[in-house]
Amino acid sequence: MDRISIVVPCFNEEESIPLFYKKIKEIMEGINAEFELMFVDDGSSDKTLDVIKEYQKKDEIIKFISFSRNFGKEAAMYAGLKESTGDYVAIMDVDLQDPPELLKEMYETLLTKEYDCVATKRKTRKGEPIIRSMFARLFYKIINGMSKTEIVSGARDYRLMTRQMVDSILELAEYNRFSKGIFSWVGFKTKWIAYDNIKRAKGKSKWNFWKLFVYSINGITAFSTVPLVLSALMGILFCLLAFIMIIFIIIKTCIYGDPVSGWPSTICVILFVSGVQLFFLGVIGQYISKAYLEIKNRPIYIVKEKSKKQENKS
Ligand code: UDP
Ligand code: MG
Repeated sequence: MDRISIVVPCFNEEESIPLFYKKIKEIMEGINAEFELMFVDDGSSDKTLDVIKEYQKKDEIIKFISFSRNFGKEAAMYAGLKESTGDYVAIMDVDLQDPPELLKEMYETLLTKEYDCVATKRKTRKGEPIIRSMFARLFYKIINGMSKTEIVSGARDYRLMTRQMVDSILELAEYNRFSKGIFSWVGFKTKWIAYDNIKRAKGKSKWNFWKLFVYSINGITAFSTVPLVLSALMGILFCLLAFIMIIFIIIKTCIYGDPVSGWPSTICVILFVSGVQLFFLGVIGQYISKAYLEIKNRPIYIVKEKSKKQENKS
């Protein structure tokens, strides 16, 4: 019998876990497979870990791994994939925004061997603040224009993958993780299922505008070097412009003499050009800082505690 691992990243989710557990157990009954429920406690400050342990005592399909602090969902997903042992591995949010009902259909699709992964995306951005969805659309336009790796608009992290694909993802052990890109970069055949946005069961979203902004910059630097090419092109453009202006001014001075005027416009040009320079220095700085973090080779996460069976494994 196949074993399906379900990786569930949790950060301050004490209220959502009971609802999630009830729901996922119902779904499991309808699927003919063995299960492993891998909770990853991402350094929660509430009772998330206690709740997980409580359930783990009663149900042996539950395993957990708990971080020493909050490392972020990307790290939690990586850890969960690494610890999972299933032939198929799913990643699912604990807030029931990723409908567990789809799991059966996903598994049946993979059983046909036609696909290596069944992933989900949002049909619409209904229920999201207008500004946020505007920026989200802009982000997908920019990143897909710049990157050869396709980042599907509205893609969620919820997906079921074959062990082979999971192992490939684990080979990309980079520190600056942008999973939406990594899932696509490793290739394999993916079937997409679209569904309407579902409200969070309990608790609050951990994302705010600033976090999403940083996440999107991370995504761009992780999967495209086009901004660096742009900065070089911009440099060439300004050199050309300066060259044309120099020739123009020399000719103008020869014909009309050299009355000193035009200070305000000079200042404007200086301000503009130095602004552009600083902007692109910042862009280059982004890449250097990411490279710096990669070179340090720090672990993606640090484990504080694991369930017993997990401990035996490593
Ligand atoms: N999450 C996590 N670490 C974090 C933030 C979130 O493990 O630092 C988990 C969270 O518990 C949830 C999932 O990632 O299971 C999605 O988070 P959230 O619902 O806040 O994001 P949204 O659905 O609003 O994109
Ligand atoms: Mg959510």
